[in-house]
Amino acid sequence: MSLILQQLKCSACGAPLKSKERDRMLICSHCGTLSLFAEGRTCPVDFSIAAPKTESIDPAVYIPFWVVEADVAVSHEKISGGGISRKISGKDRMRGMQTFYICAADAVPEENSRVWNMELTINQPELTLIPEFKNGERMVMTMDKETAVNNAEFIFLRYETEIPGTLQELDYDFRVKSTKVLYLPAYKKSSGYQLGV
Ligand SMILES: [Zn+2]
Repeated sequence: MSLILQQLKCSACGAPLKSKERDRMLICSHCGTLSLFAEGRTCPVDFSIAAPKTESIDPAVYIPFWVVEADVAVSHEKISGGGISRKISGKDRMRGMQTFYICAADAVPEENSRVWNMELTINQPELTLIPEFKNGERMVMTMDKETAVNNAEFIFLRYETEIPGTLQELDYDFRVKSTKVLYLPAYKKSSGYQLGV
């Protein structure tokens, strides 16, 4: 077995990068580019930053999310005692192209992230994007893309099993079309965080 330690380089300008502990997003002190650290190397990453809705209060942090776009194709399902109720309650089924929001920072309490992931996925937020982190720190991103994709699929399954009636059979394809990183502003609360979008 051999161990090769490679110097991490900025994906834009090639300058050496220093890795903050466990952060998967590495910032270049030379050109300011954020690179994603994955599979032992750095690569360019598609990311955006959302502005806080309330501009008068500075956000404490910008929390990283993976935004997973996937095509959900259900070929077969069997539900006992229900299924129609979902329509009556006005909720749509998750079919076709869906956008999943997955909180990617383990500094966020799970009580927060579990709720956000479902809420943001069901009610897609309307965001104003800004070019840089304004009046708030960038939170360390600890989750890799593969874990985010698994979590997105899990959200789909959780949503399906919450349909009234018992889900007995489900055959589906979960095809990921794109993944990107989105930072959402948040405020600190007595326990955990509140999103500012
Ligand atoms: Zn650079």
